[in-house]
Amino acid sequence: MSTEPNPSEQTEAVVSDFIREIVAADVASGKNGSAVVTRFPPEPNGYLHIGHAKSICLNFGIASEHSEGRCHLRFDDTNPTREEIEYVHSIQEDVRWMGFDWGVNQFYASDYFEKLFQFGLELIRSGRAYVCDQSAEDFKRDRGTPTVPGTPSPWRNRTVDENLDLFQRMRAGEFPDGARTLRAKIDMGSPNIHLRDPGLYRIRHAHHHRTGDQWCIYPIYDYAHCLSDALEKITHSICTLEFEVHRPLYDWILQQLPVPAHPQQIEFARLNLSYTVLSKRKLLQLVQEGLVSGWDDPRMPTLAGLRRRGYTASGIRAFCKRIGVTKYNGLTDIALLEYSLREDLNKKALRTLAVLRPLKVEILNYPEGQVEQLEAINNPENPEAGKRLLPFSRTLYIEQDDFMEVPAKKFFRLIPGGEVRLRYAYILKCEAVIKDADGAVIELKCSVDLDSKSGGPTAGRKIKGTIHWVSAAHALETEIRLYDRLFTVESPDGDSEGRDFKTFLNPRSLETIPNAKLEPSIVQASPDQSYQFERLGYFQMDAKDSKPGRPVFNRTVTLKDSWVKTG
Ligand code: ATP
Ligand code: MG
Repeated sequence: MSTEPNPSEQTEAVVSDFIREIVAADVASGKNGSAVVTRFPPEPNGYLHIGHAKSICLNFGIASEHSEGRCHLRFDDTNPTREEIEYVHSIQEDVRWMGFDWGVNQFYASDYFEKLFQFGLELIRSGRAYVCDQSAEDFKRDRGTPTVPGTPSPWRNRTVDENLDLFQRMRAGEFPDGARTLRAKIDMGSPNIHLRDPGLYRIRHAHHHRTGDQWCIYPIYDYAHCLSDALEKITHSICTLEFEVHRPLYDWILQQLPVPAHPQQIEFARLNLSYTVLSKRKLLQLVQEGLVSGWDDPRMPTLAGLRRRGYTASGIRAFCKRIGVTKYNGLTDIALLEYSLREDLNKKALRTLAVLRPLKVEILNYPEGQVEQLEAINNPENPEAGKRLLPFSRTLYIEQDDFMEVPAKKFFRLIPGGEVRLRYAYILKCEAVIKDADGAVIELKCSVDLDSKSGGPTAGRKIKGTIHWVSAAHALETEIRLYDRLFTVESPDGDSEGRDFKTFLNPRSLETIPNAKLEPSIVQASPDQSYQFERLGYFQMDAKDSKPGRPVFNRTVTLKDSWVKTG
């Protein structure tokens, strides 16, 4: 894995990949009347994460690249016990935030429950499905293994009439959960385990967030998914690699039924990101066990968390473009996501001076009560961002780290008797160090070279270090949250010793700084604007916890990758 992504990599133009090539060839050959219809099919059982962003960019991206293309947003809501309306809303918000629009094409698998049931009857009538009374354990046992063929169910040869009767009574609620299933009748000896009479329907007396108590049987994913795709006349059904072995079943079901279309399933490698878990089940566990503050905790890899932390949709889209689409599973370095983000924020963030751990400085030769407004540049990458005025006065705060009483080698900042340049202001000299009873430095008495301001006679004097500062009387006090990786190891999911992923949680993933000092222009901050606190990183106001006059800022990302050196 490289932590130094190649900046020349293409991020603007569309980069082709094997799926785009298949789609383009189908359009050229007139397949499906040259239509391009994709779908993004999340299950509303959690918030979307950065892995979903890859799928969103792929499906919505391909549709947008074809004049008549469209991408459906389909909620795969066949599992009533795990799904909630809150998740539906968060998914809609996140897809929109990513910059995509499904227009009128929003669907729910549950819209098709009646049709799917009728298709079930159809499969029974043609002798291709049967009601099985086996328990889940017996089903599993008799299914065999990849090398051992399965054993047919004792209920495999029920008559069509008996199957029709039982399936209808399953629907009518006559049987308890788990008592019976509807199974496809395919081939118990197939080398593909998914073709060994897979389940199509199960009994579950559960309330569904959309259909209420109308149903007590629910279709299995493999059955509902291909039929939903076909009913919506999807042309290219793009999914992750684990579904490659399900493809024969996808095709088998569609071949047995009078469906309006037979979509082509194409698989690609899912995103795995270092130092991150992307399983909704695990993310839910973090939320439920209070290990994070919620789905939108800024440390979470969810789109809601990343957004709150200050990630931009354009930065995430650039990342998705950069990683591309392949057939090979791998681990993507999270540094690449951070790199893509920095590149985007560098163009957008307003520069600001902020002091996280303040050390008081009194400038003995600067008149008491005098305030100067010094000009500062908002964004050197973008002249349109303009300039602002920074108040300068006799008492300042500088960063504790920018002073060393006994300097280390190559420390070019402030030392006793030494000089440093104050960003946008004067050259500062340390005249005396004030300590408390324990010997800790609590204040510096300094002087400035009054001729050294920009344009002044000694402005060009060679000074090795430049540090940031804020005027004490003008500073706005805020809480700042510094984040580090949520996990301490590259692959928190997989551990050969079978340790739980939570073992690898980073106890230092959140550091709260209660009283940082910010330059006064920050009162105009909004949670939609990114800031670069000079020398410290990119920050964004927390949309949830900020209060008027007391903003909270999240560190989105550091200026450079510091993990490699310190981790
Ligand atoms: P999980 O296993 O965490 O529950 P999922 O795949 O079941 O995730 P879905 O809601 O079914 O989650 O996902 C919706 C779409 O997003 C699917 O088409 C799926 O292939 C895709 N997707 C999910 N995770 C990733 C990922 N890490 N990388 C790329 N695509 C993904
Ligand atoms: Mg899924």
